[in-house]
Amino acid sequence: MRQSLVVMKFGGTSVEDATAMMRTAKIVGGRREKGLEAVVVVSAMAKVTDQLLAAAAAAGRGDKAGALAIAARLRTRHVETAAALVNDDRFAQLQVAIHHELDALDDLLRGISAVGELTPRTNDLVVSFGERLSSRMVAEAFDQLGLNGAHVDARSCIITDSNYGKAVPQEDAIEAKLREIVLPMIEAGKTPVMGGFIGSNAEGITTTLGRGGSDYTAALVGGGLHAGAIEIWTDVNGIMTTDPRICPDALRVKTISFEEAAELAYFGAKVLHPATILPAVQKSIPVWVLNSRNAENEGTQITAMAVKCKSPFKSIAAKKKLTIIDVVASRMLMSHGYLKAVFDVFDKYKCVIDMVSTSEVSISLSVDSNQQLPEICADLSKIADVKLEGNKALVCLVGEDIRGHNGIAGRVFSAISHVNVRMISQGASEINMSFMIDEEDVEEAVRSLHKAFFTNPDEAVFDVTDRVQVGSGA
Ligand code: ADP
Ligand code: ASP
Ligand code: MG
Repeated sequence: MRQSLVVMKFGGTSVEDATAMMRTAKIVGGRREKGLEAVVVVSAMAKVTDQLLAAAAAAGRGDKAGALAIAARLRTRHVETAAALVNDDRFAQLQVAIHHELDALDDLLRGISAVGELTPRTNDLVVSFGERLSSRMVAEAFDQLGLNGAHVDARSCIITDSNYGKAVPQEDAIEAKLREIVLPMIEAGKTPVMGGFIGSNAEGITTTLGRGGSDYTAALVGGGLHAGAIEIWTDVNGIMTTDPRICPDALRVKTISFEEAAELAYFGAKVLHPATILPAVQKSIPVWVLNSRNAENEGTQITAMAVKCKSPFKSIAAKKKLTIIDVVASRMLMSHGYLKAVFDVFDKYKCVIDMVSTSEVSISLSVDSNQQLPEICADLSKIADVKLEGNKALVCLVGEDIRGHNGIAGRVFSAISHVNVRMISQGASEINMSFMIDEEDVEEAVRSLHKAFFTNPDEAVFDVTDRVQVGSGA
């Protein structure tokens, strides 16, 4: 364990403009003044990933002008930010690097438009420009401010498989690369700065870890370098009792267990990427979620063990854009191997199932709506009758202390008695209770539950004095 090393990840809003980038420099400087070493992982500037995806999609439709127009706006934004960020000499050099990257992006978009086809592989390459640019700029600013900033192309270290769009990191290869490339920089007193979210496969082809993946990069870097801590700097004071955009009176959770945080992330709390927790847990590295706009706040600490809490739940998450698939078999078909046949179909399409409930003849499953639903249904129709219901959402209440409280389900469902509940599950892990409702009822249901469970929370675990700072996200 390199106790003095902290991996600091700054999300899109924390690097959204020159002012925000300077704020991150101040935060990193503060850690160095305390004698700590820092490796910094940054997201693309806020909204850039969405814009790159839009440019790639436009090019894929053959809309060259549309794609290049988006790229031109990105060029202006990055160049203007760089001009405001560093002195004239540095800007002269940085500008060359930015134009170089964006010329390559233009060429790529022209190529995609000419072919009129966007493959997952090319999509990853387009979207990688966001983190490539932001990390270069932040590294330059850090260097100017005396933090010895040194840019690292994340693709040289974050080795993944070739599952474009959601590539799986190869942890041993990553650890070896980090030791070879990043560790010597740390030992030389530098502050390595790398983009999150992006990687490359064994052939050196660019990949990405999936939306929100910069958190994952931070955890991989922390794990690979055996860091003493991982800090996820974002635009709210920490993990809150629910999304503050839904409930402005959400409270900061002071400490939460890895298991609870993973459950929340998986069930839709955008504040952490679901895969982030694992590399940190495996090496017992504490993770903090902190606010780059309010660096004094203590944030949320994610720990191995849950602290005792008088409230049953720590937080409420919600995940939208789900579809329920009802698979109804005739009794004759309900034979040995039937369930396996159903699940094999989902397996074939690598489709993750969020929730399952079964009755004598039917199985209801919920999945993300953007899966290959027509293909899945066609395959399922060969063994049963299939019915789809879209526009569903999953609401999930998470807390280790559900176990110690009786009558919780009654309290949950009386708080939302006015909402039509479609499927219910008390997680096998016993730390979540979740149910499916119509998408349009989510905000109302979350607010009612928040009122029911967090009006008088345990002050040892929740910061009741907290005031939420709502930002705009990446
Ligand atoms: P970043 O760009 O820093 O990665 P994200 O937008 O991905 O930031 O995540 C932070 C956002 O997550 C917050 O602004 C908040 O709206 C949302 N969020 C959802 N659920 C929660 C929660 N339980 N606690 C805190 N934030 C949450
Ligand atoms: N920029 C990427 C995204 O917006 C990754 C991240 O910010 O974590 O999804
Ligand atoms: Mg994020």
